[in-house]
Amino acid sequence: MSSAEAPPSERGLLAVLRARIHRDGPLRLDTYMKMCLADPEHGYWNKAHAIGADGDFITAPEISQVFGEIIGLWAATTWQRMGEPAEVRLIELGPGRGTLIADALRAAAVLVPFLAAVRVHLVEISPALRQMQQRVLAATGLAVSWHERLPEVPPGPAIVIGNEFLDALPVRQLVFGEAGWRERTVELDSGGALRFGQGEVVAFQGHALPRPGDVAEIRSGEEVVLADLKKRADAVMAAFIDYGPARAGYGDTLQAVRRHAYVDPLSEPGNSDITAHVQFGPLADKARAVGFAADGPVTQAEFFGRLGMVERAARLMAASPAGASQIEGAVQRLLAPTGMGSQFKVLIVRSPRLPSPAPFA
Ligand code: SAH
Repeated sequence: MSSAEAPPSERGLLAVLRARIHRDGPLRLDTYMKMCLADPEHGYWNKAHAIGADGDFITAPEISQVFGEIIGLWAATTWQRMGEPAEVRLIELGPGRGTLIADALRAAAVLVPFLAAVRVHLVEISPALRQMQQRVLAATGLAVSWHERLPEVPPGPAIVIGNEFLDALPVRQLVFGEAGWRERTVELDSGGALRFGQGEVVAFQGHALPRPGDVAEIRSGEEVVLADLKKRADAVMAAFIDYGPARAGYGDTLQAVRRHAYVDPLSEPGNSDITAHVQFGPLADKARAVGFAADGPVTQAEFFGRLGMVERAARLMAASPAGASQIEGAVQRLLAPTGMGSQFKVLIVRSPRLPSPAPFA
């Protein structure tokens, strides 16, 4: 039977997952998540329609141009604080549609020497999204390089941006019970459908005494990113923006989104965006453990508020009265104290010899 004729359950990623589970047994959750997002043929990131109002989910730079613009101005002033190196790598991790970096570069053009010093490097695993970024950035006329992995970016002082990048890195989940912590797995039921299961007992030291049913999430990709940054000989200033708590905690935060609605992470593998919260306190601890300094985490509202997002929006509104209510609504959404403004946090990770960036100092 050709794949075009096969019923949905027998083609695509579900078929790949079943074959793998038959062969290897239940999968760890991070393996499942990685296959769903990054499978070269059926993975979600190969589907470029994912992000934006007409896609599955919307991100801050897609809500308002002011988001990327503030990042661009922040990068320019940060470059000044770094001592105005003649060349600086502006690295974006997981640039999505390229909106953030395009807005950032446009705004940063007010500081001509910065723009002359900037070398733009985009780290992106999805070929489909890379193509979209190429189209968007061709308009800027700047030289941009693409890389599949962070270690491919050439040496030199670097300013690094990651917006909703870490949340996409796969997580393991451990569930606490009578036997201690056990690996959460993805397995098959007797009908061949995916379901969660429990695997081996794992030695794990949580941040606090667990209660039965507590779930611990472990994202080793964070250590990999930090180690890759640490390997750079020159100064690094990185801003990670994502949703998640400021402090360590237990809880199952795995979520899947399709067409702006939550779906079961096991339904339609490869067709929904699967993420989990970033725990910012532990992320800062990991950064310090490898020798970086960290500022924050602070809420998105505090970071962007103190960098002048409201004032910039007001100037835009004055310049285009017809679009004013749209601009105002978008910025309110980004800064909402009970919404994105507080759910999202910003953590700065920097070489300890660099001063804290704005708005921390
Ligand atoms: N920063 C963008 C997109 C966020 S979605 C925005 O704010 O709109 C996550 C992005 O990270 C996508 O571009 C995805 O393809 C990319 N990505 C996910 N895992 C990655 C990895 N391991 N290496 C590089 N890029 C990755």
